[in-house]
Amino acid sequence: MAAQSTPEQIEEVVARLAEAGAQAHVTAGKEATIIGAIGERELLATLPLEGFPGVERVLPILKPYKLVSSEVSPEPTVIDVRDRKIGDGYFGLIAGPCTVEYREQTLSTAWTVKAAGATMLRGGAFKPRTSPYTFQGLGLDGLKILEEAREETGLPLVTELMDPRHVEAVVETADVIQIGARNMQNFLLLSEVGRAEKPVLLKRGPSASIEELLMAAEYVVKEGNARVILCERGIRTFERATRYTLDIGAIPVLKQETHLPVIVDPSHAAGRRDLVPALARAAVAAGADGIIVEAHPAPDEALCDGPQLIPTEEFGAFVDELRAFVTLMGKEIG
Ligand code: PEP
Ligand code: MN
Repeated sequence: MAAQSTPEQIEEVVARLAEAGAQAHVTAGKEATIIGAIGERELLATLPLEGFPGVERVLPILKPYKLVSSEVSPEPTVIDVRDRKIGDGYFGLIAGPCTVEYREQTLSTAWTVKAAGATMLRGGAFKPRTSPYTFQGLGLDGLKILEEAREETGLPLVTELMDPRHVEAVVETADVIQIGARNMQNFLLLSEVGRAEKPVLLKRGPSASIEELLMAAEYVVKEGNARVILCERGIRTFERATRYTLDIGAIPVLKQETHLPVIVDPSHAAGRRDLVPALARAAVAAGADGIIVEAHPAPDEALCDGPQLIPTEEFGAFVDELRAFVTLMGKEIG
């Protein structure tokens, strides 16, 4: 309460808090009076307290997320996808092209990343592109190619769902449904995948806070789908040397705040292939439960994200180096 607030105004706030089922603890001071309210955050949030006479500031102390919070469920979640595991000691190594371009490109990438030790295949059939004039993905034909790659290699598929109209097709094909950074706050889409029977890989929006990422995950879990993997993929800052700024600090914060597995996308964060190994190592060292990384047999000819793609012929060496760090962290590639 503001310094000039009157006893009547304080009483009024206390009365309204009591009506909302909260206990109010009043501490009177010289500069201000503090009313501590203990109760259901959602109920209290419906009270327009900021507008009450005499109120100076309203500060929420409780976390807004519940189901994803490690306070509510302290045990780390392990997500099992066709016997591949992510979380609590299992490190997920998801690799593949940015985009499914054609059959041979996707199949040869799948075989190489599998030989190197990847646990899942990534590849977009529906692509969120900044420019409407660039390749938008093969759509349903891309999903068919991915299915063939899974049949041949046995690798589970991670692929992006962009539009509620494609839910049926993507959910049918995908083993893990990717929600891209630009859709992190597409709440209808989040609720939709919350009702799906497949795990969800939720990427952090380029300008989303950690709390907003966790609230987006809450949307999915609230609908009944508890299998959510969070992904830090770089945020938008003033820095231009990298495509985005990989928020390494987000990893230990998320590991504290949530029981859900947390992975890192070093490819989109870096935007340049020479930086990808270092960012991947940093992710492992910071406690990530996996990475999702882009590879391609001929990056110079790629239709999307060429500069950041690891050539498949270098992929084995990339994984060998990373594996040593994973072992050092007491984890194993799941
Ligand atoms: C991707 O993984 O291919 C992708 C488009 O990533 P993001 O949504 O993080 O930009
Ligand atoms: Mn990409």
